[in-house]
Amino acid sequence: MIILLSNDDGIQSEGLMALETCLAKLGEIYTVAPDRAQSSMSHALTLHRPLRVHELSPHRMSVDGTPVDCVKLALTGLLPVKPDLVVSGVNKGPNLGDDIIYSGTVSAAIEGALLGIPAIAVSLVTFENFDFGAAADFTATLIERMQQPGIPTGTLLNVNVPHLPKEQLKGWKLTRMGKRHYSENIVERIDPRGGKYYWIGGDDLGFAHDDGTDCVAVHEGFVSVTPLQVDLTDHKLLHEARLRHFPWP
Ligand code: MN
Repeated sequence: MIILLSNDDGIQSEGLMALETCLAKLGEIYTVAPDRAQSSMSHALTLHRPLRVHELSPHRMSVDGTPVDCVKLALTGLLPVKPDLVVSGVNKGPNLGDDIIYSGTVSAAIEGALLGIPAIAVSLVTFENFDFGAAADFTATLIERMQQPGIPTGTLLNVNVPHLPKEQLKGWKLTRMGKRHYSENIVERIDPRGGKYYWIGGDDLGFAHDDGTDCVAVHEGFVSVTPLQVDLTDHKLLHEARLRHFPWP
């Protein structure tokens, strides 16, 4: 098995290195990751300047671009082989509910799915004292188990791992996207020349306690695995008859 690894925290992140070490037993690993932190880049693609690739070893490359740049380059010519799987992470911080929309970690996996390769995004639910052991170990097990029956083309798995020692995790659950609550405060300041500038704020105000969601599973001490699809169509609304008979012109 050939695995492409990437992330949004940059090639020097310990989370990425934990996956490189742990997944090596499953096959051949190629790492193509941003040369610096690129969190919250979502699906940004660099089109208006050249991208430079720095080859650290034949299996390890950094790119001066976004997570999606890295996966796209890797899958469309940079690598000498076609990977069987794309894995993004382990992210330093959760990607639960709404986070998924902004996440560079998840978008790297989405790019794999868009290009027809099964993909997994993995995030560790903490912002300090990172121990990636359980997250990397669970990812290796998940990869082994998902060989049969495999995941459909265009689907990816979004994994969030509570920051607990492996023995204290309660297990894992298949979940759906939940809803996180953030304060929407923007911080306004004045620069030394008298001009205004802003910081986008957003304190964590918890989450909606809806059954079956990623937020609830992690809160209860389970690893959360959410199957995501690239098709954003609202299929329920699409099939509502009242919207389908709209005389125009
Ligand atoms: Mn990140």
